Amino acid sequence: MTPPTHTFHSILEVKTTASITEFPNTVLSVFRIGMILFLSLLVPAVWAGTTQAPWFSGALVGMEVGPTGAQFAGGKHAPDYARNFNGAEIARRCAAANAEYLVLWVRDGDYTFHNSKLVPKPASFGDRDVLREAVEEGRKLNLPIIAYCQLQYPAHELRQHPEWKARQANGKPIDHLVCFNTPYTNAVKALLAEMMAYGIAGFHLDMVDQGFGPPHGCWCDHCQKLFQAEYGRPMPKGVNWEEEDWDRMLQFRYATSDRFEKMLTDYVRSLDPRATVDFNYHGNPPFSWEVGQTPVRHAGNGDFVTGEAGLWAFGALSASFNAAWYRAATPGKPFQVAIQRGVRMYHDQTTRPLNDMRWEMFTLLAHGAFVTMIDKTAYDGWLDPVAYDRIGALLGEARDKRVQFGHTPVRDVGIYFSARSRDWIGREKPATWFQSVQGAHKACVYEHLGFGFLFDENLSLDDLKQFPVVCLPNAGILSDREVDLFRRYVEDGGKLLITGHSGQFDRMGKPLAGSTLEGLIGATVKVRLEGSDNWMRGNVSDPTRGGWPWTSVELNRSAVLHPIPRDWPFLVRGPATIYEPTTAASTGDLLDSHRASLANPAGYNADWPLSARQVVGPAVLINFVGKGVVLTFACSPDFATAGEHHIVEARKLFANAVRLLTPSPRVRVDAPANVEAVVTDDPATRTLRIHLIAYNATPQTTPVKERPYVLPGLIEDAPMFRASLEFRDGLKSARAMNRTTQLKKRGNRVELTIADIHEVIQCRY
Ligand SMILES: [Zn+2]
Repeated sequence: MTPPTHTFHSILEVKTTASITEFPNTVLSVFRIGMILFLSLLVPAVWAGTTQAPWFSGALVGMEVGPTGAQFAGGKHAPDYARNFNGAEIARRCAAANAEYLVLWVRDGDYTFHNSKLVPKPASFGDRDVLREAVEEGRKLNLPIIAYCQLQYPAHELRQHPEWKARQANGKPIDHLVCFNTPYTNAVKALLAEMMAYGIAGFHLDMVDQGFGPPHGCWCDHCQKLFQAEYGRPMPKGVNWEEEDWDRMLQFRYATSDRFEKMLTDYVRSLDPRATVDFNYHGNPPFSWEVGQTPVRHAGNGDFVTGEAGLWAFGALSASFNAAWYRAATPGKPFQVAIQRGVRMYHDQTTRPLNDMRWEMFTLLAHGAFVTMIDKTAYDGWLDPVAYDRIGALLGEARDKRVQFGHTPVRDVGIYFSARSRDWIGREKPATWFQSVQGAHKACVYEHLGFGFLFDENLSLDDLKQFPVVCLPNAGILSDREVDLFRRYVEDGGKLLITGHSGQFDRMGKPLAGSTLEGLIGATVKVRLEGSDNWMRGNVSDPTRGGWPWTSVELNRSAVLHPIPRDWPFLVRGPATIYEPTTAASTGDLLDSHRASLANPAGYNADWPLSARQVVGPAVLINFVGKGVVLTFACSPDFATAGEHHIVEARKLFANAVRLLTPSPRVRVDAPANVEAVVTDDPATRTLRIHLIAYNATPQTTPVKERPYVLPGLIEDAPMFRASLEFRDGLKSARAMNRTTQLKKRGNRVELTIADIHEVIQCRY
């Protein structure tokens, strides 16, 4: 192989980024809104009833509208509930707001909003049929109408059929959850058939979860019989991670959700092959086995996957995380992400500033999603005019920029997700296990590394080879098949980046003496450190083994780079391992903390890391295998990056390792940490697009509840920031979208000063 041209030292170095100043952006916004309103008149909508292509083919932005309070009243709404929830008016307002389709809330737990023989309407409707109103108006507007139908909390049916409730292991019913193995499935089919008759374009079915935490189901008679028939043995008596039957129970639960989704999809298609089905998906973090979904299997049901992003529930990084996840879970298919106009939650009756919505919308679009903006109307169904003005500007801008989206992502790092580890290591506290995966993503975003996801469920060598670097973030359970694929990937020139306790557990989550990755790592596991306050020191004179192939510090080329101070122990909080090198070269120091010398280590301030104590092993191992390289961190810079004790240097470690392994990316982006870069390629026009999306939250005061857990403020202003791009393979021209962007091209380098939330630099090569 040709070794990378810089030394290992570079991964211990840190660099600064350009600073940010802010200034108002109103002139730009007014200009843009005007252009958007004009251009949006020129783009025809696609309706499944009038064209060969399904409605979602080429769709970019749409809306979902439902009345607030639909989920919360338990059938005891005030008389004016949804009184003004008018299907025709909603269709008109959404079309005027540049929506290309409308997902109309039709069925909630207690009511449906069409004339049904099966489920009652709200009393305030009188003779009105909201679905009919919307479909008739939608036909005039060429606006496809998709019926939102709630599946999982059918309060009306469960009052009539309490025997359909999911049951706990002790036989007690779970009052709010239905079991998907009961005759409830027939009630759903009958209801969908009623709605189909209206001429809708499809269904959005929400949700197929089996609960988001305890109490867990389902041990009803239907499930017990099915389990016995499938496995020839009774169900386990409850959640028990020590027994094989619990593994069978997990598989049984996954199969239940899968079967239910496939049955509904097949049924809808049998009624109208052109009608679409999509399910609100929950196979991604923070959701875990409780929900009854796995990342790939349940994303593939229906016509496309739909998921939610949102700072309110999942954090600001969920936009890019989820979009990349849905892409990976449904290769080659469109994927939909739902966001909301409320400041904190769907039903909160607030309206976000336009720039706050723009940041989220353009992050999702840049990553290739199509996006649905959710509006919860007032309790009586009134539509907030300011919200619709802002949504109109937002969706119009998206449609105006349509040509910029949907191209092939250019990626540096494949982040590996082991669903088996999610279940059997994460168990009933999956959030801790998710932290390494989420931290790897966060590091990639902050450091402008292109990323995607890889799943154990459907892993292939070809998938691995899509990425120059594959990261195993604390992937504890790795089968022989997976390790063999990793080996072949590295032997063929791939770069593997390993963190935490990867490979150190058997398929049931029990600790192994060593690691299934020892051959690749080039070291044996001496001790797995159970504590998380671990430290690292770049006390590198030279690697401890001979034959080191890297001779120059690649990052020294730039004067703006500052190294992490040598001889400085810095916290890399997270799982760590003491390795004994065999074939690997090692360097740097791993240190434990003074907690290790306490009589009761867990008794001292478990939330706060304690200071560095002594060297316990090497920090980093590098092993050459075939044409490739395996770089192993004895600690977890990914876990540290997503944690509450994230120091910047821990994240730089991760990024420097990636840059060491792939020193010549196709595009190198330098920008502030709060600016996400998404690089896409359009080979047909030989155009690389670099989307730059600024997250510019405002400061907050003390919260009334749960201090000190402050939610970020809203984005009000567009920041001004500098960025630079460097192209490996030559650059013919570079062009910005915004008039206000200053762009200087010098050979293969582009320097930018940008004053907006979203900019796209189009670069011809
Ligand atoms: Zn059941």
